[in-house]
Amino acid sequence: MGTKNLTRNRPASMATASTTLLLSLALLAFAWAASPSPDAEAISRFQEYLRIDTAQPAPDYAAAVAFLRNQASEAGLEARTLELVAGKPLLLLRWPGRRPSLPSVLLNSHTDVVPSEPSKWDHPPFSAALDEASGRIYARGSQDMKCVGMQYLEAIRRLRSSGFIPDRTIHVIFVPDEEIGGHDGVELFVSSKEFKDMNVGLVLDEGLPSPGEEYRVFYAERSPWWLTIKAKGAPGHGAKLYDGSAMENLMKSVEAIRRFRTSQFDLVKSGQKAEGDVVSVNFAYLKAGTPTPTGFVMNLQPSEAQVGLDIRMPPDVHTEALERRLIEEWAPSSRNMTFEFKQRGSVLDNFGKPAFTPADSSNPWWPVLGEAVKKAGGKLGKPEVFPASTDARYFRKIGLPAFGFSPMANTPVLLHDHNEFLSKDEYIKGIGVYESIIRELATHNDEARDEESRAEL
Ligand SMILES: [Zn+2]
Repeated sequence: MGTKNLTRNRPASMATASTTLLLSLALLAFAWAASPSPDAEAISRFQEYLRIDTAQPAPDYAAAVAFLRNQASEAGLEARTLELVAGKPLLLLRWPGRRPSLPSVLLNSHTDVVPSEPSKWDHPPFSAALDEASGRIYARGSQDMKCVGMQYLEAIRRLRSSGFIPDRTIHVIFVPDEEIGGHDGVELFVSSKEFKDMNVGLVLDEGLPSPGEEYRVFYAERSPWWLTIKAKGAPGHGAKLYDGSAMENLMKSVEAIRRFRTSQFDLVKSGQKAEGDVVSVNFAYLKAGTPTPTGFVMNLQPSEAQVGLDIRMPPDVHTEALERRLIEEWAPSSRNMTFEFKQRGSVLDNFGKPAFTPADSSNPWWPVLGEAVKKAGGKLGKPEVFPASTDARYFRKIGLPAFGFSPMANTPVLLHDHNEFLSKDEYIKGIGVYESIIRELATHNDEARDEESRAEL
């Protein structure tokens, strides 16, 4: 039997009813499409922030801060802009707690991003293009770390609209210049009166995406040693074999450095150590030779040669031993060699202790963080040492606990890379994670718990 017969047999009133129903459904669908869902609105706010070109070396901080101040006022946060260095604004947002005497929670993110090579991207790096098929949002800063900054604000919007009031004060700060070392940003800020007045008890800062299901969390980071090693030697004819030429002196060192590099890398490759737990050594440049307008003099052994190294050390490394290696093996004066530090990061905090935040039960914040992520349906991986540098080091240096955390699971690490992206689903999931984290940290109260257990006794 065909549908034609069915329709014909149906009473006229029924046909009218179904037409009306269809019309109402169509209207509903239209209305739904016209007013975007809260998630879609959050995505478009994220895209708007990503479209502001805050790339070093000429970040548009004014535009970023204007946008963020607007977001903050919509989220009901107090805002003020601090300019410790002219043209480099630091935005301070505050959600006052019910018990302002408790140490506050500080949520940090940087507004600047690294430069990009647009010709190597599939979508322009400041288009924040959403690929509908994959759900990926492509933009410089989508992982590092405009996502996190906006997720803090979105989570606060949600918490406020649910009527939540924090016990502890929550501070959200947007800082400049992290990508060029943070010297005019967090490094200055931590010694300001404004920072002291914030009475910070815990800092959250950036982490890294995880290709797997677990979120990564960082409790320390490696410190950089950037140094140049120079070799000198008698210049000579390019045809002559003789001892002590600058190039020979330098290449002996390069071989020793490479052996050390291999031994550290092998620990990572074999799975015995994580990337952040070894000393990495990489060659930044090699410089030698006698230049000519078209290249180099080929029949001359130069009298000077040098190499630049980027070394990164975890906080538990024995720096004296490494320095002895440098003096005795890598730049021995016996081979006419010298070295010079371009940057010498310390693995210790201002109190002489290795600069890491305990990620165990000795730190009362740690279980709260893990529990909060769990409540949001996520899981933290084993705490790690961040392989590079972030602003978190300035907080750890003054003795504050700081965790690096960016809620991006199932995501390849594309920080500073071409085609940096974050999927919109991961972004939205991350808002839920921060909602839980802020709720738990803001109500976590050792003191109250102590009082309760005393009352029970
Ligand atoms: Zn970053």
